[in-house]
Amino acid sequence: MRLTVLGCAGSFPGPESACSAYLVEAEGFRLLIDFGSGSLSALQRYSDLNKIDAIILTHLHCDHMLDACTYIVVRRYDPSGPQPPVPVYAPLGAAERISAAYSQDNEPVDDVYTFYGLQPGTFPIGPFTITVDRVNHPIETYGVRIEQGGRVLAYSSDTAPCEPLLRLAAGADLFLCEASYLDGADNPPGLHLTGGEAGEAATKADVGKLLLTHLVPAWVSEASIVDAAVAAFAGPVEVVRPGARYDL
Ligand SMILES: [Zn+2]
Ligand SMILES: [Zn+2]
Repeated sequence: MRLTVLGCAGSFPGPESACSAYLVEAEGFRLLIDFGSGSLSALQRYSDLNKIDAIILTHLHCDHMLDACTYIVVRRYDPSGPQPPVPVYAPLGAAERISAAYSQDNEPVDDVYTFYGLQPGTFPIGPFTITVDRVNHPIETYGVRIEQGGRVLAYSSDTAPCEPLLRLAAGADLFLCEASYLDGADNPPGLHLTGGEAGEAATKADVGKLLLTHLVPAWVSEASIVDAAVAAFAGPVEVVRPGARYDL
């Protein structure tokens, strides 16, 4: 499978990146994981706009789902005619949230999306075996494990340290993990990971490679976060960039 980073800025778009959105492809199937602010722009560099086969929204914070609203226009008003609905796997309430953000009168969006409520478990999407579990964030949020062809990609979504994160990432070839906070700062609990905590999770889960994401460029020093992660994880560590591609 192939991972393409469409956006990786944490919490709000950065000067160089949209918010979280990741394209995962295998056997011609295109799965979009998160659809944060600004990422619809980047999506057009790597995919035909209409050829998204399924979407997972890990949680309903704006920086992970807001471009699912703007994408309604793309499919509903395509010059060649309305496009068929796309399956969206998301926490309950996603339809109402997207509809409310899209229109003042909460018009239905089921012509564009078919919603499936996420709950902890394992299920297929196209060629992928997907496992999701609740992670440690103030609203209902799911970390994701994606398996295909004997390879494993794990994605933390937004989370503070927690056991489900370690299970999802166990033995993953690539661990795409958020690192929003600086180690040693007075960080609020139950929200995000530091670089050091991302590194610790990578070590405990025994992953092949740690990809750091969801840094907030305006607020944190990337070098400090990387240094803390490297100190806690002996394997390769990399900060993802928009447009970065990983074949696994
Ligand atoms: Zn976020
Ligand atoms: Zn969040």
